[in-house]
Amino acid sequence: MILQVEDVHGYYGKSHILQGVSLQVDAGEVVTLLGRNGAGKTTTLKSIVGVVPPVQGRVLFEGQLISGLPSYKIAARGVCLVPEHRGIFKLLTVEENLTMAARKESAWGLEEIYAIFPRLKERRKNGGGQLSGGEQQMLAIARALMTHPRVLMLDEPVEGLAPVIVDEIVAQIRQIKATGMSIILVEQNLEVCTQLADRHYIVEQGRIVYHGSNAEFLADEGVKDRYLGVNLAA
Ligand code: ATP
Repeated sequence: MILQVEDVHGYYGKSHILQGVSLQVDAGEVVTLLGRNGAGKTTTLKSIVGVVPPVQGRVLFEGQLISGLPSYKIAARGVCLVPEHRGIFKLLTVEENLTMAARKESAWGLEEIYAIFPRLKERRKNGGGQLSGGEQQMLAIARALMTHPRVLMLDEPVEGLAPVIVDEIVAQIRQIKATGMSIILVEQNLEVCTQLADRHYIVEQGRIVYHGSNAEFLADEGVKDRYLGVNLAA
């Protein structure tokens, strides 16, 4: 097991948002966090990287306690969040965005990145701000890889993107998984989730209310209706 989240409680001010979240990620696994808007998915990711530090409970990475560490130290251990709004440098070129994120120990250099993201190679001299939304998302994921993550957390990586770009990003996430990366995916697009994931967790009001393998989740129509408000018959 590479990441263990145990009974994590988290607050924004006085609002008790995470009410005891527990989940686990094995090495090389893709795990999703599903749930309705406001359920606490993003906050769970933020608590893992120390942006919303757990007030109770703990997070272990490779068996070592990381909760309580400042976020830059958690990132340096290899737990990396690609946030929903991407956070790329719009005034720098694609290649500058990548090289400034690079870490010596990373298995990911420009060659490995461009092999998975050929569009970024084509656009390497363009400014980040000149990229399409899909290309910006690819750049955000690629930048994260340059930092040598062991656990990659993607918050809504395909939100608002055209279906053809969504397919491209799904294929890229598959290639990243094939390198042995552990991935936590927060995503509203259930089809994308079931194409990629080994297991799913559902969050409701800051608690995990369901977890199951991808096969179990796909076979259980009721679960989607109950927790996600998805009526597949519609
Ligand atoms: P979404 O898909 O809408 O992003 P989510 O499951 O990721 O949903 P979170 O972003 O984790 O939900 O939010 C959980 C709760 O915390 C929500 O009620 C939200 O309004 C609240 N919240 C989120 N960010 C903040 C903040 N910075 N300050 C105060 N409350 C916040």
